[in-house]
Amino acid sequence: MTVQPIRLFGDPVLRTPAEPVVDFDRELRRLVADLTDSMREQNGTGLAAPQLGIGLRVFAFDVDDVVGHLVNPSLDFPDEEEQDGPEGCLSIPGVYVDTKRRRNAVATGFNEHGDPVRLVGTGLMARCVQHETDHLDGVLFLDRLDPERRKEAMRQIRAADWYDPAAPPTVKVSPHPGPPGPPGPLGLGG
Ligand SMILES: [Zn+2]
Repeated sequence: MTVQPIRLFGDPVLRTPAEPVVDFDRELRRLVADLTDSMREQNGTGLAAPQLGIGLRVFAFDVDDVVGHLVNPSLDFPDEEEQDGPEGCLSIPGVYVDTKRRRNAVATGFNEHGDPVRLVGTGLMARCVQHETDHLDGVLFLDRLDPERRKEAMRQIRAADWYDPAAPPTVKVSPHPGPPGPPGPLGLGG
């Protein structure tokens, strides 16, 4: 196991745009393994490198037992269709708020060996790749909420036992090891 602690809301690394991967080397493959293990240990749907404190454009996903990763992803939307439903984030534990996303997304990028990858997602997979690609731009799902819902999310965050506005942000990490609980609504905790 190469499970790493997950950075929590308030950590500046979550607000810092990540750099493209240049070297498809052993270090990258170790990062992909860490992301995958850490995501699965938390029953997450996805996990992006900044959530482990690494400023590289890489994320792992596990959507309906389709497990994979994407390096240097870019997104295209084949249509205008939207979806609305509960979304969460492993960096904002226990907070789930309905979030509007595009229903269909096509993610292109590379695997850990540098081979081109194209991922056609709908529903939860499309939601996942949008959520994780946002992480690589320093964007959280909170930023995608309308003002009412954002207020509700912030209320939940302030009430969460892990949230401590006075603590130095860099030491706020999720507790490990934790028992893998059931996935949240729609299972999305990326
Ligand atoms: Zn997330």
